[in-house]
Amino acid sequence: MNKNLQLLKLATTEDGTVSMRLLLQMEVTYHLNGETPEKAKAMLQDAAAFAYEEGLLSGETALEVERFETSVREFPFVSETEVAAFQAWRLENGDLDPEDIPVRLARYGLMSPAEFAVEMQERMAKEEERNHRCPRCPDTTRNTGDLVGCGSSNVSGPDEEGLYDCGDCGLFFRADTDSPGQG
Ligand SMILES: [Zn+2]
Repeated sequence: MNKNLQLLKLATTEDGTVSMRLLLQMEVTYHLNGETPEKAKAMLQDAAAFAYEEGLLSGETALEVERFETSVREFPFVSETEVAAFQAWRLENGDLDPEDIPVRLARYGLMSPAEFAVEMQERMAKEEERNHRCPRCPDTTRNTGDLVGCGSSNVSGPDEEGLYDCGDCGLFFRADTDSPGQG
C-alpha cells in the first residue's frame, strides 16, 4: 500500500499526538412490535452512548477518544427496481437530462446508502404528490349543471380564475368541484 496515502489519513499535532478519524456504520432493521420509531432511535443512541461511557471504544488499549459523535438516521426501504423504474420514468418525461447521467452516477455512487435512499424516497414522494394534485378532466357529474368531460389527465392550468383547460376535449373546469378520482 502507498505509505503516503496512508499518512494522509492521520493527523499529527505539534506535541506529536497522532490522531485518526473513523466512521462506524451500523444498520439496524427493527420489528417495532408496537413501540414508536422515536423509541427505536433512542435505543440506538443510548447503546452508542453506553459503549462510550463504559470505555468500550478504547478498552484495554492506549487509545484515547478525543471526539465522539453519534447520529441515528432513518434508512428508508427503497428497492433497486423501484429506483430504476423511477429514473427511467424521469428520463422518458424529460425530467432527467441524459447528459447529466455521468455526473449523477458519480454523485449517487459517492453518497452513503442511507443518504441516497432518503433522497430517492423524497423525490418519489414529491412526484406522487404532484400526480395526485394534478387534476383530471371530470368525467362524472358532481353538481347539477356541471359539464362532463373526458377524464383525460392532459390538462393545463390553473389560470388566474382557477380554471383548468382539458387538452383533449377542451372543457374548462375547476379542480375543487370537478375532480373525480383523486386521492
Ligand atoms: Zn376532457
